[in-house]
Amino acid sequence: MLEVRDLHVSYGGVQAVGGVSLTVREGDITALLGANGAGKSSTLKAIVGAVKPQSGKVFFEGRDITGTQPDKLVTMGIAMIPEGARVFARQSVAQNLRLGAYTVRDEAIIKQRIDSVYAMFPRLLERREQLAGTMSGGERQMLAIGRALMSGPRLLLIDEPSLGLSPLLVEQVFDALQALNKQQGLSVLLVEQNMNQALEVAAGAYVMQTGRIALQGTAEQLAASDEVRRVYLGM
Ligand code: ATP
Repeated sequence: MLEVRDLHVSYGGVQAVGGVSLTVREGDITALLGANGAGKSSTLKAIVGAVKPQSGKVFFEGRDITGTQPDKLVTMGIAMIPEGARVFARQSVAQNLRLGAYTVRDEAIIKQRIDSVYAMFPRLLERREQLAGTMSGGERQMLAIGRALMSGPRLLLIDEPSLGLSPLLVEQVFDALQALNKQQGLSVLLVEQNMNQALEVAAGAYVMQTGRIALQGTAEQLAASDEVRRVYLGM
């Protein structure tokens, strides 16, 4: 579904991504793992055209989408949730969800999607009139996921959803991703530092180290591998 070929990203001559290739298969959750500064976010940003790759190609369903702007990608069926789950702080939960549907014209579809977001995250329904800026970190992450779902994506790219969340909330967010994957067939590229929890929900994963893919395999293979821990600790 998504294919990244030999992606390179540099910031002012300093290379952050040095030849990353990866594939997200339709119907899978694929994790992109790695320690701080390994280049995961830069890879994701280059995939969605938020930073310009030096070289390399990105294909979505066989189509070259390299450098395509994020808003255009939304209309193609790709949604991205950046690190920190940015939401519109001065808008209510309900307004944030509506804003996520800016590409959707049909009011009936918007209503149906809002209902299914509330069914998945009852907490958002309880708090639908609350200003997003006053929500907790976990609630904001749920809102960010809900808002991304409003565009009806087939592929979701999500950057470190566990960041700053308590273990219980991390589990809730990951459960939600898994449910979306299983029930709605949503494909996911999950960028995470939290390897153990990511491997519990992912089918397969890539592990980055200093801008390159150091390891790849199924979630089971990687969960059982000592090599992964060595890469993480930078040994
Ligand atoms: P983290 O988990 O800490 O977000 P990451 O694996 O996502 O790490 P990146 O954020 O992609 O890593 O960073 C990779 C490297 O690129 C780091 O050395 C970082 O300092 C550098 N970098 C990232 N963004 C920029 C930027 N805008 N300008 C200069 N250097 C950058």
